[in-house]
Amino acid sequence: VLKVHELSKAFGAVRILNDVTFQMAEGEVISLIGASGSGKSTLLRCINFLETPTSGRIEVMGDAISITSNRPGKGEITNRAKIRLFRQRTGMVFQSFNLWPHRTVIGNVTEALVYVLGKGRREAEDMALSALSKVGMAEFRDRYPSQLSGGQQQRVAIARVLAMRPKIMLFDEPTSALDPELVGEVLKVIRTLAEEGATILLVTHEMRFARDVSNRMIFLRKGMLEQDDAPEELFRNPASEAVKRFLSSVM
Ligand code: ATP
Ligand code: MG
Repeated sequence: VLKVHELSKAFGAVRILNDVTFQMAEGEVISLIGASGSGKSTLLRCINFLETPTSGRIEVMGDAISITSNRPGKGEITNRAKIRLFRQRTGMVFQSFNLWPHRTVIGNVTEALVYVLGKGRREAEDMALSALSKVGMAEFRDRYPSQLSGGQQQRVAIARVLAMRPKIMLFDEPTSALDPELVGEVLKVIRTLAEEGATILLVTHEMRFARDVSNRMIFLRKGMLEQDDAPEELFRNPASEAVKRFLSSVM
């Protein structure tokens, strides 16, 4: 469902991503790992066009956007209309949950259904409740974010993305902002989604979880894809000293 081909991103003269190429099949779970600053967030942001790549090609479900550029830092989008489609097909969950503070739980989840997908109020609420049930938050539907724990807020944020029925879910360190005792409940939700067949690209520092839940793990180093392997293989056979050092520093 996702093909990333020779994707590069530069900010000014600084190359942050360098010819990254990989593919994801439907139902696959891939964890993106690597040191701080290696380009993990930038890669996710390029996939849903929060950032415009400098060059390369991204294909989601057979639709592709190619960015060709002869000047570094200047990417040109060949098909602007597709970007909206890509955003809908890829749902992103951030480290900071960014819920609307003045909206209830259900209000937060229905918002985009109504304004982006154009659903009627009634249908939006049904879709929202079904997503909230999946993350175990349906009974909190009328609370405000400030009345929830961080873990609960993040579960609502996941429901908000889930309700939009994206083809690929992108998670950028979804548990990094949480107190340690709240991490488990969010990982459990992600694990359930994975088991139900969701296609998930996940940036995480929870290495044991990543090893457990992923079909493959991708190691980024200085914007380059250094290893793309099944977890067992990556742990047994790190492709470089850098991978080895990273794994031993986080395990
Ligand atoms: P972390 O694990 O700390 O989240 P990361 O792997 O997600 O790191 P990125 O956030 O993708 O790394 O950043 C990669 C590099 O790109 C960093 O050196 C960062 O300073 C730089 N960078 C990110 N966004 C911008 C920007 N808007 N302008 C300039 N440089 C940026
Ligand atoms: Mg990051």
